Amino acid sequence: MLGYGRAVAMTSGSAEVPCSHLDSVAPVTPSSTGCEDCLRMGGLWLHLRMCMSCGHVGCCDNSPNRHATAHWLEHPEHPLIRSYEPGEDWWWCYAEDLFFEIPDAPAAPSHP
Ligand SMILES: [Zn+2]
Ligand SMILES: [Zn+2]
Ligand SMILES: [Zn+2]
Repeated sequence: MLGYGRAVAMTSGSAEVPCSHLDSVAPVTPSSTGCEDCLRMGGLWLHLRMCMSCGHVGCCDNSPNRHATAHWLEHPEHPLIRSYEPGEDWWWCYAEDLFFEIPDAPAAPSHP
């Protein structure tokens, strides 16, 4: 647990994070440099997302196999992902359909 919500509230006072699931965020490291499920099955992906609870790297909903969403369906206690694309820093909460950014959070890792 990193307490981003509290940190944001304390430091800026303005950037309210609308998601109530920040407690599920862990200091994760990416599990793979590509979609680990596609790599296993020989699939192809378009964009990558990283689970912020366990570091699972999965492919986006524009990819044929939608492994990031599949990961959430399998692990509903992992509702938060971040983009794993270079230059993208946004978060997505599956449970609340929320798209947001956390200005004070450390930069997101991205695939090579
Ligand atoms: Zn949420
Ligand atoms: Zn995939
Ligand atoms: Zn996960």
